[in-house]
Amino acid sequence: MSREMTTTADDRATALFGNRFLTEAAPSTHFPDSGMTPLDSLRLVAEDLAMEGDPQRNLATFVTTWMEPEAQRIIAENLHRNFIDHAEYPISAEIEQRCVRMLADLFNAPGETTGCRTQGSSEAIMLGALSLKWKWRERRTAAGKSLDQPNLVFGGDVHVVWEKFCRYFDVEPRIVPLAENKYTIGPDDVRPHLDENTIGVVGVLGTTFTGHMDDIRGINDLLVALKADGGLDIPMHVDGASGGFVWPFLYPDSAWDFRLEQVRSINVSGHKYGLVYPGIGWLVFREKSDLAEDLVFYENYLGKTDATFTLNFSTGASMVLAQYYMFVRLGREGYTYVMRQMQQNAKALADNLRASGRFEVIGDDQEQLPLVAFRLKADHDVSYDESDVAWQLSAERGWMVPAYTLPPDAQDVKILRALVKETMSREQVDRLTQDIEDACQTLDQKGGAAQVEREQVKQGSGY
Ligand SMILES: *Cc1c(COP(=O)(O)O)cnc(C)c1O
Repeated sequence: MSREMTTTADDRATALFGNRFLTEAAPSTHFPDSGMTPLDSLRLVAEDLAMEGDPQRNLATFVTTWMEPEAQRIIAENLHRNFIDHAEYPISAEIEQRCVRMLADLFNAPGETTGCRTQGSSEAIMLGALSLKWKWRERRTAAGKSLDQPNLVFGGDVHVVWEKFCRYFDVEPRIVPLAENKYTIGPDDVRPHLDENTIGVVGVLGTTFTGHMDDIRGINDLLVALKADGGLDIPMHVDGASGGFVWPFLYPDSAWDFRLEQVRSINVSGHKYGLVYPGIGWLVFREKSDLAEDLVFYENYLGKTDATFTLNFSTGASMVLAQYYMFVRLGREGYTYVMRQMQQNAKALADNLRASGRFEVIGDDQEQLPLVAFRLKADHDVSYDESDVAWQLSAERGWMVPAYTLPPDAQDVKILRALVKETMSREQVDRLTQDIEDACQTLDQKGGAAQVEREQVKQGSGY
């Protein structure tokens, strides 16, 4: 599709008054023959994006949608810095290590530890779980035992990344099913699945489904007892993608971290409640010896020896710097303030929903992420369901509140989930309450599409 290179009156008018993509389709299938001005490309991309959801109304995502201007400046001013160039940018590398030490402190590590930045919790989980696998291999090799069938034990309440790990890295997933009315797991669920080939047990701190924690203390006690009498020493990894920045501030006395003996590694997403834009995550080990030595690469790059254990190589330094900015900007006091503010507004939303008489709220009497998980009461009008409420709310007001069924064997339970973030003021909580009521009234009149088995709006979205 080459354009003629003659300048017509039309072209002159376009250059003066508009741009050619006002009347032409956006390039999408072939590498463009010719280019356009910076302003035209800016408009083209911006106009495309205008059709997306408004992040401020996205109550589905755990990921940060707002940072203050000074933080944005740190990010914008460092976009050209490649984090992996430790030789050229040693200060960025040092700042990463400061963050790791601060997290180890926050998670009550007993002494010197190690860890790294990652692209998000997914990369941190791949690395943490690989370390579990390699450490298991070391133990098995030393004992002269077979390396054939490693397994990993976790509940149906985990994020999909755990099944991904098992498939990508050839580990048998032993998934404990949930049940109606039981959306997390504990020691009794785990026990029957453990054997000498178990590389580890995963405990979730703040599930994506209802925001609760597995019984991490109970599972730890079980593993400690096993170690004491059977000699099986099975480590635990805590997936604190969301909860890792919530529990230390809202529930500081609730032990889930390195205070528990068998918790050997923890991942957390900096871009969730760490309050940084995507993508940044963290992996922290209890002790240096919990990182399998085989995962570490010592390389001579640009004249300096560097030890790394990451799946990616080049990446921006901005989000590491932004994370450090947030740690020093807020400190424990500031993070506690922000988490409490979210929690109070989540509680206000939960109270409003209960008062409406239409909904029941799930587990807000327990330690939970600052969110509201709710469902229509059992005696509700059966002509519509939670997916219809989500759809109607989005159609009428643009709120993105996902509706989804829980994992097996709780798949008959459908819930709605609203995250109440820093930017959600009490005023907006009340507006959302009213908008949910209005959506329900519309549905009372016209019914929903519930009977026409529709694709779920978002299946247990963990992002
Ligand atoms: C979000 C989430 C993940 C994946 O984390 P990313 O940072 O998006 O890669 C894993 N586990 C849990 C519990 C999560 O909430």
